[in-house]
Amino acid sequence: MPNKHEITPAASLPRPEFTAVGVHAPYADPLGAQAVQLEDMRQYQLLEGGQMLDSARRGEQIAATKRLPGEFNSTVGRAVAGKMGKVMTSAEVQLANDVHSYRELGQRFMVQGENKSGPIDAGLKAVRIHLRELTSEQSDALDRYMKSTATAFFKNNKDADSLIGNDSWANWLGSASDKQLMNFLQWHNYVLGSQRHSPELHEEVERQRAMYKRDIQEGVEQGWLGKDALKAAERTDDIDVLVGDQFDTILQGRTGYHFRGTPRVVVMQGAGRTHKTRIRDARNNINNTLPHELNHAVLATAANRPRSPLAERWIDEALTEHISAVMFHGEPDIVKPAEREDDQFVYDAERQLLDFLLNHGPQKVDAALATRAYSGDAEEQQEFYDALDRAWGTRVLPKVAAAIEKYETLSNAPAGIRGQTAAVLSVLGDLMDAPPLVFGARYEQPKRGELVGASRRQATS
Ligand SMILES: [Zn+2]
Repeated sequence: MPNKHEITPAASLPRPEFTAVGVHAPYADPLGAQAVQLEDMRQYQLLEGGQMLDSARRGEQIAATKRLPGEFNSTVGRAVAGKMGKVMTSAEVQLANDVHSYRELGQRFMVQGENKSGPIDAGLKAVRIHLRELTSEQSDALDRYMKSTATAFFKNNKDADSLIGNDSWANWLGSASDKQLMNFLQWHNYVLGSQRHSPELHEEVERQRAMYKRDIQEGVEQGWLGKDALKAAERTDDIDVLVGDQFDTILQGRTGYHFRGTPRVVVMQGAGRTHKTRIRDARNNINNTLPHELNHAVLATAANRPRSPLAERWIDEALTEHISAVMFHGEPDIVKPAEREDDQFVYDAERQLLDFLLNHGPQKVDAALATRAYSGDAEEQQEFYDALDRAWGTRVLPKVAAAIEKYETLSNAPAGIRGQTAAVLSVLGDLMDAPPLVFGARYEQPKRGELVGASRRQATS
């Protein structure tokens, strides 16, 4: 049977070194957010016949102007896109306008944009500050996006390269004129909006949703998902899937994300020179990332229980990604990324640690206990905790969590995702070297023994 998930990986966008899917960080004022806010200005401009605005005074006028309905005569609005840009076609203008009429986003960013000096000036200023504050990893990710995608923004493809020379796009955009920066934001909005409204991508999401529900059913039948997982499958239809801004996804070190307790997941937009290649790239992103994010959104019953040991980020992500890998390729008992076929190596460190705890302690613990606990009820969760504690002869998950936290808070620990990964690897190293480093000085390892808690049902092959 052909692999039902199979789509040729495009890899048109190289991933940054620390790609992590679905970090649950607070919404961090992405550049794209500011860009959407600035659509107010665009709308006004279009009706003005494509003239760029030139002063804060005009900005204030627009701030006082009522939001306009999402329809306009697009021939009126051929945006003259500044001296670096091209003239947008009517079709492109239409799409960008759709972004503007995305009511929820508009309201959200209007609130963020409230500022005494007027929303447009404040918005552009915030964008410039944001660009200057990018880390070198984020700046590299922006350069890759611009290199693969922004050439379409210029009259001819050579312009983009000759324009910045050896400089970074973050620097160039950060010191670009208001017109150029506005033009870039509009263009970026158009790229994002045209994907959000792409029927092809909507179709892909529905296709993935249906496959995902079948995968859950299979997992329950094969015994590696919990009893409640079928109820979770029903919730899949209620999940809102949104194509996410590059600035809010890959520049934040993630290809998608989900906020705990909300029915919305976000998957990174596509990159590429033409609309067609961008759609293909976005399809691949949806294909690669959506099962992981849906796992968080509908399947992870344990992570949503208060004070659950499975709500710890390291094991939540390890299991989320493991289950998504099993949905792609099967083999529910193989947790170690290096032992899997065609693994995406996402949350690699976290899964290595989980594999070590399951398979390299004094006694082995069946991986199905962990995946059932992730998706199951309180009883199934307790079953997993007990098996793990029995295998190691101590309270495993709380002590591992404390050890990770200790490494994360060291003064020389790297920040963000890199710090979390480093802490997980440090704890794994300690467990390999000397488990008392993690479990306490008086820890004594129990004797080696049999598999703890073998599957109640026959696991899949
Ligand atoms: Zn995740």
